[in-house]
This record gives sequence, C-alpha cells and structure tokens, in this order.
Amino acid sequence: MSFNNLGLSNALLKAVSKKGYTEPSPIQNKTIPLILEGKDVLASAQTGTGKTAGFTLPLLQILSQGQQLSRRPVRALVLTPTRELAAQVFESVKDYSIYLDIKAAVIFGGVNQNPQVKALRNGVDILVATPGRLLDLHNQKLLSLAKVEILVLDEADRMLDMGFLRDIKKIIGLMPTRRQNLLFSATFSKEIKQLAQGFLHHPVMVEATPENTTVDKIIQKVVRVDKGKKPTLIIDLIKEGDWQQVLMFTRTKHGANKLSEKLVKSGISSAAIHGNKSQGARTKALADFKRGTIRVLVATDIAARGLDIPLLPHVVNYELPNVPEDYVHRIGRTGRAGASGEALSLVSVDEMEYVQGIEKLLDLKLPSEVLEGYEPTDRLEDVKKAKNNNSRGGGNNGRGRRNFRGKPRR
Ligand code: AMP
Repeated sequence: MSFNNLGLSNALLKAVSKKGYTEPSPIQNKTIPLILEGKDVLASAQTGTGKTAGFTLPLLQILSQGQQLSRRPVRALVLTPTRELAAQVFESVKDYSIYLDIKAAVIFGGVNQNPQVKALRNGVDILVATPGRLLDLHNQKLLSLAKVEILVLDEADRMLDMGFLRDIKKIIGLMPTRRQNLLFSATFSKEIKQLAQGFLHHPVMVEATPENTTVDKIIQKVVRVDKGKKPTLIIDLIKEGDWQQVLMFTRTKHGANKLSEKLVKSGISSAAIHGNKSQGARTKALADFKRGTIRVLVATDIAARGLDIPLLPHVVNYELPNVPEDYVHRIGRTGRAGASGEALSLVSVDEMEYVQGIEKLLDLKLPSEVLEGYEPTDRLEDVKKAKNNNSRGGGNNGRGRRNFRGKPRR
C-alpha cells in the first residue's frame, strides 16, 4: 500500500515524502480514508504507531479544502494530555502543512501566555492544546471555539487518568454540536467507552495493534533484586553494557530525581523528567536525550507519555508500575520503527505481585533471572513490615534493608 491510494492531496504527499515515509503505517491506512469521508473515529493506538500523522494528514486536507474564513477562527482542535505531546503534535502539524496555506498554533500551561495569545490573534486554523491552558485563555475571552469543525482527543485514556474529564466536557460544550470527532486512546477502559459514547456520532472503531499486547520485537526481561541494590545494579549494567540511550521509569517524581542524581554521581549523564519540572527543563532534558548528550532519561509515567523518541534500544523499569497497562505503554518505547529493543524490569520482592498482573494482561510469562552478586535476600514480610513502620512515621526509611547475611539491620 502506498500513500498515493489514500486520497491525500499532492501537497500532503509531498510533505510526507519530505519526511522520508515510504508507506503508511497500519493505523494510517485505516484512519486516513475514514476521516476524509467525514466519519467519527474511535481509534486504539499507542505512540509509535504513526497515529499523529494518522489524524493530522486527513485533518489538514479537510481544512485546506474547506472554505477559508477571513479571520481564521479555530476550525480544528487537538487536545493532548501533556505539554510535551502538544509540542510534538504541533511540530508534526507544521511539518505536514509545509506546502499548505494553513496556520497552526500550540498552547499549554507552564509558560508565559503572551506569545500564545499573539499567535491566536493572528488567526489559527488548527490549534493544539492541553485542556487547562485552553480553558484559561477561553475564560479570559482570548479565544473562541465556536467555529470548530473537527475535534481530536489524543491519548484520551491518559487525559482521563490525569483527571481532565471535567475539563474535556467543558471544552466540548464550547463547540458547535455539529462537528467531526476523533478519539485516540491506547486502551479502551470502561471510562473511555463512556466518554466516547457521550460525544462521538456512530464512530468507526479502528485498532492499530491488538489491545494491550506488546510488540513481538521487544525482548522483555525481569531481574529480581533487592530494592537497596537497584542503584548499583543499574549503574553496573549501563557501564558494562556501554548502554548509550536508556529511558528509565520510576514510580515517583522524588524517585526520579534521586535516581538521576545517583547516576550523575557515578559518571553517567542523566536528567529527570516529571510534572514538577519546569517546561524549559523538560524540553531541554528531552532534547539532550535525543541528541545523545545525556545517556539516561529518568521519567515518571505521566511525563513520558507521548514522547516521540524513536529507535530506543533500552527501556528500564527501575520500579514496576502498579497499573499493568502502564507497563505496556512504557515498553512500547523500545523496538520502534522496525528496530529491536530490550525492556528490562528490576523487580524487588514486594513488586512480584505487579509482575503477575502484567503477565495476566499480556497472557505470557516474563523470563526472570537473578544476576551474580545481586542475589535477592529480602523477604516479603520484612519489606511489608518496614513499609508499614515507615508509613506510621517510624522504621527504616521503608526500604526494608537487610545486611548481607539477610538479617535485618539494627
Ligand atoms: P507517532 O505514533 O505518531 O508518535 O509516530 C511515531 C514515529 O513514527 C514518529 O517519529 C513519526 O515521525 C514516525 N512515522 C509516522 N508515520 C510514519 C510512516 N508512515 N513511515 C515511517 N515513519 C513514520
């Protein structure tokens, strides 16, 4: 299948070939003709599948064919959960519209609103936005959604996870009822289905990859290790394997900072990326990581969501997520675009229950091993006890540390 058969204009085909794409991805094959027909679409697609072009290309074609209104009101709105994703979608829109007379803008929080307001004043055909700043500017009467013809919810599941449901509903209420709606989501939870029912009209369902399965090309491994030994183990693995580009996940923002500091102290360049970091710091960390000036990007799930980091050789779950679906999102960052990748999970005894949840979701057994010098000795009941003590304000930092003979430390 080539891009030529999808019904896209020459200007878009030229932009696609400038990007170096030779054939459409499966999701693009499915969504592009449907969207061009004017259908509402409910698509199951993770990052890495080419979903952004899957909605941006037809959207641009529809906008460029439609009647150009003189003051250029917003005619298409793409909502994303995070600033990073908004920035990336905006870049894609710019790339694909290079040969079209289409104006685009991006707005998100955490930065000065003035440049965004200026862009809006100049007229915008397609607006990419995160919900908070969008409502903020709307409340200040700095933008109108009264002429929106197409609405895209990108990574809708993550928007719900982040508590944006009310904002989304408010935003929908600000638009004309007659419009085309596209919803992209990595998973189809009950909540997503409810949201979809509320605003999509006879949607066509499209699936890029079977729901909740991981890409075959990813080699998944579990290494069992005591929590207290994780830092030295990961430093050893990175140094011995000479890993150059590692995306590492922690469960908390604090954990991400601490781990990143430890890596830097041991001579491995690293940065942390999470919701408490300023927009500038996040953008810089991601750019440095892509450029290869930092080797390890330590991220929380929310911060990493939607990041476009192609060809990632190593994804490490420094801590496992307690939601199995997040594991699928995390490891989807490796083995992209035809390359193989390795997803390694460092699992302490108290995280074994998460492994079971993941195995159940994926319907497969994750190979698990123990590395020499890092044999785990922690016992579940001791770790749990330590955690309880810690949450009551006492205890040993909740780490359940034991000495090398496996006896609790005094
Ligand atoms: P996405 O899933 O939209 O985040 O896209 C993942 C990556 O695939 C991005 O780096 C895109 O530039 C790239 N991409 C999108 N469509 C194609 C295509 N048809 N052929 C090759 N790469 C693509």
